[in-house]
Amino acid sequence: MTKYVYTFGGKTAEGKADMKNLLGGKGANLAEMCLLGLPVPAGLTITTECCTDYYANNCQLPATLMDEVWEGMKKIESIMGMKYDDAENPLLISCRSGARTSMPGMMDTVLNIGLSSKTIPGLINKTNNPRFVYDSYRRLIMMYADVVMEKSEGIEPADGKGIRKQLDDMLDKYKEEKGYKSDTDLDADDLQILSIAFKEKIKEVLGSEFPDDAKAQLEGGIKAVFKSWNGKKAISYRRIEGIPDSWGTAVNVQTMVFGNMGDDSATGVAFTRNPATGENLFYGEWLINAQGEDVVAGIRTPNPLNDDTKNEQNKHLPSMQELMPDTYKELCGIREILEKNYHDMLDIEFTIQKGKLYMLQCRVGKRTGVAALIMSLDMLDEKLIDKQEMVMRVSPTQLEELLHPILDAIDEKIHKPIAKGLPAGPGGAVGHIALSCEKALEYQRKGMPCILVREETNPEDVEGMRAADGILTARGGMTSHAALVARGWGKCCIVGCEDVKINKDNLSISTDKFGHKHVNVKINDTIHIAGKEYHEGDIISLNGSKGWIYDSKIKMINATENPNFKRFMSIADEFRTIGVRTNADTPEDTINAINFGAEGIGLFRIEHMFYGKNSEEPLAKLRDMILADTTEQRIDALNELEPYIREAAKGTLKVLNGKPLTFRLMDPPLHEFIPQAEEKQRELAKEHNMKFEELQKRIEELHEQNPMLGSRGVRLGVLYPEITETQFRALFEATAELIQEGQNPHLEIMVPLIMNVRELKHQKAIANKVHAEVEQKYNVKIEYLYGTMIETPRAALVANEVAEVADFFSFGTNDLTQMTLGFSRDDVNIIIHKYIEEKIIPNDPFESLDQKGVGELVKIGVGRGRSTRKDLKCGICGEHGGDPASVEFCFNAGLNYVSCSPFRIPVARLAAAQAAIKSK
Ligand code: PEP
Ligand code: MG
Repeated sequence: MTKYVYTFGGKTAEGKADMKNLLGGKGANLAEMCLLGLPVPAGLTITTECCTDYYANNCQLPATLMDEVWEGMKKIESIMGMKYDDAENPLLISCRSGARTSMPGMMDTVLNIGLSSKTIPGLINKTNNPRFVYDSYRRLIMMYADVVMEKSEGIEPADGKGIRKQLDDMLDKYKEEKGYKSDTDLDADDLQILSIAFKEKIKEVLGSEFPDDAKAQLEGGIKAVFKSWNGKKAISYRRIEGIPDSWGTAVNVQTMVFGNMGDDSATGVAFTRNPATGENLFYGEWLINAQGEDVVAGIRTPNPLNDDTKNEQNKHLPSMQELMPDTYKELCGIREILEKNYHDMLDIEFTIQKGKLYMLQCRVGKRTGVAALIMSLDMLDEKLIDKQEMVMRVSPTQLEELLHPILDAIDEKIHKPIAKGLPAGPGGAVGHIALSCEKALEYQRKGMPCILVREETNPEDVEGMRAADGILTARGGMTSHAALVARGWGKCCIVGCEDVKINKDNLSISTDKFGHKHVNVKINDTIHIAGKEYHEGDIISLNGSKGWIYDSKIKMINATENPNFKRFMSIADEFRTIGVRTNADTPEDTINAINFGAEGIGLFRIEHMFYGKNSEEPLAKLRDMILADTTEQRIDALNELEPYIREAAKGTLKVLNGKPLTFRLMDPPLHEFIPQAEEKQRELAKEHNMKFEELQKRIEELHEQNPMLGSRGVRLGVLYPEITETQFRALFEATAELIQEGQNPHLEIMVPLIMNVRELKHQKAIANKVHAEVEQKYNVKIEYLYGTMIETPRAALVANEVAEVADFFSFGTNDLTQMTLGFSRDDVNIIIHKYIEEKIIPNDPFESLDQKGVGELVKIGVGRGRSTRKDLKCGICGEHGGDPASVEFCFNAGLNYVSCSPFRIPVARLAAAQAAIKSK
């Protein structure tokens, strides 16, 4: 026979902490507290297995269950010295849900079960407090009617029409008639009258009687909690949190203790350490003469637990430390016992009934990133945990919180987001709306923070993006231009927010009273977000980690670089076995990345020198090259471009100071470097002494239907070998010069977007020629690695051939994802949204690696590559290199390193360390 009931109480229990799957989090921890000898009101836990059996059996409780429950109740009665459904000394119980992981407020609870016409007189007699008894009774009636008789029966009417609301309205009306201001004005007689009226109302509305039988009440309570596992709220919460429907909930049936029995009674919640700052200080709130719900409901300002918890709002209220020093001391002792046992910070609930302390709940407490870091280090020093556990204690997402200024979570809670997009760049930003890059730059000059709001961004917007404090776009996915650039800078960014509508028409036509039409040129400085109009200059706030947008000014918290962070990271590195490099293309970003712990550059995108600051001159040369008519003209232009490439590489190699730089040969289709607006094209034609029509013709020649599958990557180098040659020359000369200057440059060159080994050989021949020439010219020996990106599925499949020529592979998983799934990385967000919503895919494959598909190609690539070249170095440089789950995958796939944007380096380091620990 399956055992469904596990009792606890009186310093013993049938369960324990590690039985969460069977007993739910609450039940397992209640049992554990009993085993630790803590004062817990006795009770029993009905297993999650019973819940799944209940559903499997058409919502019928297993036949043996209630017998087992009554057997367990006998134990509870003997521990508590009271009897359930007894006329003299009645025991009351609560029925609470408790799943494996906490689902706060998503399921139902019934309190004060066991009150009936039989037990009420006895309880009045015993407590000498009729008001308390009738107040408990009317609460039971309200909760029971709502949870057991209505919701669990599936007869809940539309929002605001349910029985609970109707009873609440009766209560309010009664108070009004009597001229009462608060619930506490109601006396025992009032409450008794109300109880009778409530029961009549229930009969009238629901068509059945509130059960006046304690036994029936308990059975009803158990069923209702099981039913609430499939309530609307619980189902949606599970969807969001990814909790399987199959887990089921446990039911905890526990003796009621009352914090509302007078001034020697109280109830409270506490954290064993400060969950916001991590400080090792007992932190909590309590209320005298109150029930648990009152503390969290926010009706009364709770008192501070102790001196350490006093703040501006509550400092005038007496603390438990002051009012009940002995009980407070006892609670401090419990705090210590719990932390020693769980080796972690706990969140606890307690009640004091007539001076006696009871523990009602404990669980590992939620915390901010800062707190997680501080606690893990403190607990290591206190020898509560070892280094390995310390590293596992901070999640990569929590770490990320520490690296960016963020919105103040408390202030954020007060406001409602007006729209949501994709969380593309971390942290928070608050500023004035800027609709153009010029405006963003203007705000920056004036020292005003701003948010650049655009349909989408393109390389011409880079300066405006740099100037803005945050970026918001209506289109684009997680690897769209805006997202990539913003993440690289660690800038707050939300993309693909479909609720943002940029007003594009600058012209409008109006008719005057004479019937004449007028064309009005309107300076359009407005946008709509979720249907509401906003003007340039209005303030908005972004939460880039969640993708939420607010139309108010939310407080920011500054995340500062601190020694604790450094110490934590260096301990994490003791476990890490794979390398962490960065995607960077300027000396500034490289220095930044090295400060975050980067061990080299895994991807240097040369084309970034043609965007943003100081790009005018090299861009002009590049355009000369693109617009050239003949190969000779093109070579002339390239010769002028070469010094810029050389200086860019040299500057970055210098700050790397011996660490490797992986230079990626030019990748984008050339048309990207030609302005799109006609006005700008006319200017360009003028600068190049060309006729506009001539320029247009050249642009037409460059036009491709699918540029992402067109003349880009290695294909550029095959079509125009002189472009490759120039880059090799610039790189080798930069290296030669640095060697001559006594430095130790470490150069690696890789070829993008190949699909077979011949492409690689084709480019290598150019490299060989230039290499020999430069070595001779400078009279130095230049060492470098020649490798390739793996970005097409075919390249991965023929990796054994590719590895004949390549010294290393770098998986470009942005393109590899695009080509494997056939999703355009720049326009996919609408599809992805829908796909995730419909559960067709679990998450955005451009954000977290599609391990089954793209990941399989990575594994095949590594395996086949190493079958040819045993020591083939393999890394990843797509955006996934900074995603914790993908980093873990890379570790398990045997990659040598991951490469990611500078601000994600610590996250990648931690994820890599945790992957290594997990694999032990
Ligand atoms: C990639 O495709 O993963 C990559 C790193 O290259 P890019 O994003 O520049 O195309
Ligand atoms: Mg690529």
